[in-house]
Amino acid sequence: MADLHLNGFSSVCIHGGHTNDPNYSHLTPIYASSTFTYDSAEQGMRRFAGTEEGYIYTRMGNPNFTEAERKIAALEAFGLALPDGTPLQLKAILHASGMAALTTLFLGNLKAGDKIVTHLSLYGGTDELFQKILPGLGITALVIDMHDIAATETAIKADSSIKMMYIETPSNPTLRCVDLEELIALATEYDLITAVDNTFATPYLQQPFAFGADYVFHSTTKFLNGHGSAIGGVIIGRDIAHMNKGMLKTHHLLGGNSNPFDAYLLTMGIKTLEVRMERHCHNAMEVAGFLEQHPAISQVNYLGLPSHPDFAIAAKQMKHAGAMMSFELKGGMEAGVKFINKLQMCIRAVSLGTCDTLICHPASMTHFGVPKETREQYGITDGLIRMSVGIESIEDIINDLEQALQA
Ligand SMILES: *Cc1c(COP(=O)(O)O)cnc(C)c1O
Repeated sequence: MADLHLNGFSSVCIHGGHTNDPNYSHLTPIYASSTFTYDSAEQGMRRFAGTEEGYIYTRMGNPNFTEAERKIAALEAFGLALPDGTPLQLKAILHASGMAALTTLFLGNLKAGDKIVTHLSLYGGTDELFQKILPGLGITALVIDMHDIAATETAIKADSSIKMMYIETPSNPTLRCVDLEELIALATEYDLITAVDNTFATPYLQQPFAFGADYVFHSTTKFLNGHGSAIGGVIIGRDIAHMNKGMLKTHHLLGGNSNPFDAYLLTMGIKTLEVRMERHCHNAMEVAGFLEQHPAISQVNYLGLPSHPDFAIAAKQMKHAGAMMSFELKGGMEAGVKFINKLQMCIRAVSLGTCDTLICHPASMTHFGVPKETREQYGITDGLIRMSVGIESIEDIINDLEQALQA
């Protein structure tokens, strides 16, 4: 596969990372085996020494992981080159979940006393990792408004223990974006490690490595899998030597490996990434237009609408505006609960990125136990609805929303 030159993104989605099967199976079979065998003691020795390629034990690698990892690395590097013109090479490490991948990312790069500079409204789990787990290991996060580049520089300059800049764009629930080009350039000037959560955008819509990021992270549970059939996470890095040594060692010892079946489902899901994303984004634009003129709605947060405060940043760094949006019902909590209960086709669930349209009401679901004032600091008002627009026929999505919005 390495010598096959592919021109188009979808071709890489479909064929990237594949190795021909010795039994001529078209698809890589599911290697449900915990361990791998050697022809001789000498071969075992060569595999452990790393002088011969081959698998040892599934916590440390499996053909199904390799296929998904190589596919994702090829997609994040798609069309990118180093200053000397050679194609960008990346290395990906697949994990059991997004949170497992983040654990490897932070513990593989930071030590006690180090700080992370980041921004508001990160994914809930990431935020809790920063608040509840990392401080116990001596690693803390400094949260600042990264829309303000000058203030970000002042904060970095003032504290030499800041070692990493962690960015999530677009982010929940109001789809705020920050400027990847400016922030990564700033972080690089101060020798910070840069990591970007690219889950909402996918490599089809946004490539942080184009701006010089060191790491990209995905919860593959979302758009990469695309069907809601498995949990997974991946970190992709540009420093191949560090990925193959320090990062891989951290991953193997923390033990957050994926499993062959989930990796197989992920590989199948990625094959349709481009066609799904095109349809997701097209549907989302139609839905946003419908919601924006609906009398029961006071505000629509969608990056494809010029009314969104980060419309210009999104247009600069994303191919399309994505499939995620949120909107505010004028009737508050009561209207939110009523709307959710009336949905007939759209699915009442958290998570995102599936073929099916998923809708949730954070105030009565994910954030029900959070005091109203705290919730509102995160932008979660009583009437806020979050929606991951699916790839169903657009008329059926709009019809369902229309009937659910009727008084
Ligand atoms: C889901 C998600 C995560 C966490 O990933 P899991 O697969 O649930 O562990 C991190 N970041 C974002 C933006 C997510 O949507």
